[in-house]
Amino acid sequence: MGFQRAVVTGGAGFLGSHVCEALLRRGAGVVCVDDFRTGSPDNVPEGAGLVVADVSKPLNLLGPVDLVLHLACPASPVDYLRTPVETMKSGGFGTLHALELAARKGARVVVASTSEVYGDPLEHPQRETYWGNVNPIGPRSVYDEAKRFGEALTCAFRREHGVDTGIVRIFNTYGPRMRPDDGRMIPTFVRQARAGVPLTVHGDGSQTRSLCHVDDLVRGLLTMADCDHPGPVNLGNPEEVTVLEVARRVIEVTGGRSGVRHVEPMEDDPRRRRPDISLAREVLGWQPEIDLAEGLRRSFGRHLVG
Ligand code: NAD
Repeated sequence: MGFQRAVVTGGAGFLGSHVCEALLRRGAGVVCVDDFRTGSPDNVPEGAGLVVADVSKPLNLLGPVDLVLHLACPASPVDYLRTPVETMKSGGFGTLHALELAARKGARVVVASTSEVYGDPLEHPQRETYWGNVNPIGPRSVYDEAKRFGEALTCAFRREHGVDTGIVRIFNTYGPRMRPDDGRMIPTFVRQARAGVPLTVHGDGSQTRSLCHVDDLVRGLLTMADCDHPGPVNLGNPEEVTVLEVARRVIEVTGGRSGVRHVEPMEDDPRRRRPDISLAREVLGWQPEIDLAEGLRRSFGRHLVG
């Protein structure tokens, strides 16, 4: 399906900027809405319109819109733990305003939720039918619960106002344009490996992660935009690796010589995380095509530095 004019909230961030580029490549008009709190104007691709606005406040955009992709929300623990109240406002009110915009314009809206709605999961791998194990008052709850609220609100808009909504639950994604200091595992490891200092691993490093390359993720997100499935649909790479193994591969790919330094485990940090993507395969015909070794090489290989 071709979209005439898409609004991408959070379009100056990591995922949002790749989404804007992909939409532009498909010939869609793109308006990026962002206030740069964790993103950068440099990420907004040429050809995209830009509205500098905080989505926690109502969004008034002139002209037709047939797709809203709602990605605006601090996503890295470093960012969301620094501004807990603002994070809840972005995740909660921001989603309200994206849904209201879509309702007014008669647009499809795809809301970016997260694997964090599963909390520290008691089921493995996680299917969309699992309701999660979230600590509602822990420090990370500002992100997890705002996203859970966002999902509930999205379903309410569909039921009460008939808005064409879709929810995607995004699992850890990596790629170019993550900020080196954003505190997430991959950019932190890459920054440390390139600087030749030890890679900091929380706990013993036996906890697992499943890491999806951004190109795969964006393809999944746009396939969700193209259909009318309400979701939630998990989008992520089911290849499960230990954090220690990720550290080893980053050192290898960047050509560094660093070792590893173990530091305190993070509070409420999930032990295991792996998406069950059967639903995405079935309803979107989607699955990742880029494995971790290839994705790291493409994004952070030593040939890309200097
Ligand atoms: P990011 O921090 O790079 O991008 C977020 C963007 O939203 C930034 O440009 C920021 O300035 C903007 N933003 C935040 N709050 C805003 C507000 N109130 N008003 C206007 N703009 C605002 O993060 P990302 O990794 O690109 O994540 C994008 C979305 O995907 C988020 O909703 C996040 O929860 C979700 N997600 C990402 C991942 C991942 O691994 N990257 C995983 C799960 C979910």
